[in-house]
Amino acid sequence: MNDREATVQQLKDIAVAFISERDWDQYHPAKNLATNLVVEAVELLEKFTWLTAQESEEKVESDRLGVEQEAADVFFSLIAFCARYKIDLAHAFEEKMKLNAQKYPIVKVYGKNTKYTQL
Ligand SMILES: [Mg+2]
Repeated sequence: MNDREATVQQLKDIAVAFISERDWDQYHPAKNLATNLVVEAVELLEKFTWLTAQESEEKVESDRLGVEQEAADVFFSLIAFCARYKIDLAHAFEEKMKLNAQKYPIVKVYGKNTKYTQL
């Protein structure tokens, strides 16, 4: 399985089956799934704590498996949330990217990292 072949729905189905087989759905109200998403994101962030920007770039390669596993944990939490609450993630992503494009017009932000409220 890889990004080019897998669909979001296939990945949701895998997450849902994993949860269902363990009878863990009972532990997954929105609050817990959202909390777990942040916890897993922090576990990814923890790998780069106190590193310089350059060191963090190098860390991705030197700890590639660990970084991939934490990224997968983040993704699992997100798709489990979306599956449970019937969020069409591809559609939500597409719509949010349209909003982001309006907030960050290329002509105003090209090469800049200014927040949209400061444009
Ligand atoms: Mg983790």
